[in-house]
Amino acid sequence: MADGQYVQLLRLRLGVPCVMPPAQWRCNCASHGGPRHSAYVESAVERAAEANQDDHQQQAASFATDPCHGLYCKRRWKRVMRRHDSIRDSLARTLELGLFKDVRATVEPRVPNPQTGADLRRGDIKVHQGGTTWILDIGVVCPGTQRYVDQGSQTTPGRAAEAYAAIKAAKYADQPNFVPFIVETGGYINRRAHLFLDTLRGSQGSRPAADSRTQGYFRGPSPQDVALRGVMQALVRIQAYMLADIVVAIPAVDLAIEAVV
Ligand SMILES: [Zn+2]
Repeated sequence: MADGQYVQLLRLRLGVPCVMPPAQWRCNCASHGGPRHSAYVESAVERAAEANQDDHQQQAASFATDPCHGLYCKRRWKRVMRRHDSIRDSLARTLELGLFKDVRATVEPRVPNPQTGADLRRGDIKVHQGGTTWILDIGVVCPGTQRYVDQGSQTTPGRAAEAYAAIKAAKYADQPNFVPFIVETGGYINRRAHLFLDTLRGSQGSRPAADSRTQGYFRGPSPQDVALRGVMQALVRIQAYMLADIVVAIPAVDLAIEAVV
């Protein structure tokens, strides 16, 4: 990982803005329409962007009012999509490792609609275990946007993830085993996603799911920990790149760097 990316990784982890002090910098995305709806743009793009779509402002974003803008800038939608796909692929890979007994995972299946039989909605991962099938839909949401701050995301961990999980769950209400798997840009993962991993683990042998973490403490990481660690690695790698790149693409004075040079 390049120095600039590592600096941004640490800043994001510590809650330090990507430039210091947060500048009256303006992003170059104000007039950009975001992804075009042409044949090569999959519906995955829309899903990847929908978490923060209401936060795309008409006027240019500023680091002063929008310090995490680089994590969901609509002009940089390909990175937003890549972050989503990278998390999806990491999770699917871990589920296929055999750590969770008898689990099979398939990426991006069609989601059938019981009424019409032809629903175009697609989950991200279909998971099978012991005759049960779940549909997972991955989402990434930034708790630093005004919409979620207004809902208390800056004081309550997970507020943004749980709010977005509820929206996804409502959209798939007709799917019995639907699991919204929502990751906040800061790393929080929604409760339903944790419960789902515990469920996959819990059906392994007679040991209840609640013991899996204690077991992990003595015997190395639990399968759930391995899965979540993979998701975190996918998240921080691309986000470090997103922030490092946007402060180079649209330079701003950074006194935190200049002070030590
Ligand atoms: Zn932008």
